[in-house]
Amino acid sequence: MDKSLVQKIIRRELNRYRKLLSLQDWTITIKYNWIGDEDDATCGDCEANPNYKTAAITINPDMAANEKELIHTLRHEMFHILHASFETYRNTVEKLITDKEFKAVEEVFDRCREDLVMCLESMFDKGLKIPLEKKKIIRKK
Ligand SMILES: [Zn+2]
Repeated sequence: MDKSLVQKIIRRELNRYRKLLSLQDWTITIKYNWIGDEDDATCGDCEANPNYKTAAITINPDMAANEKELIHTLRHEMFHILHASFETYRNTVEKLITDKEFKAVEEVFDRCREDLVMCLESMFDKGLKIPLEKKKIIRKK
């Protein structure tokens, strides 16, 4: 997609999702770069720092075929900000174990992260019209 169109869409949707996800107190910066190798590229990336409530999202404009895919990527990366507090756990574990052990833990951590984001995507895609509780049962005396 054209980079200036990508930037325009991202600016608009970033503010919308910032409100929807209650991330108004986060400083979110957007970068536009190619991510990954030539034959193994990624649509987006997010690095969030929960201590400073900052997040750097990278969008790969060349990977988005259309506006819908672009917004999906932005939303996906913003969902990653929601679980940023787990980074504190991850960073602590990294200091306590060997590199080899951390590599194994990291694989599980990444899987859990992506599973959580996929659950959030599914909830949003279904419209979030989920009532807090089922209709109350009123018993007649
Ligand atoms: Zn992801």
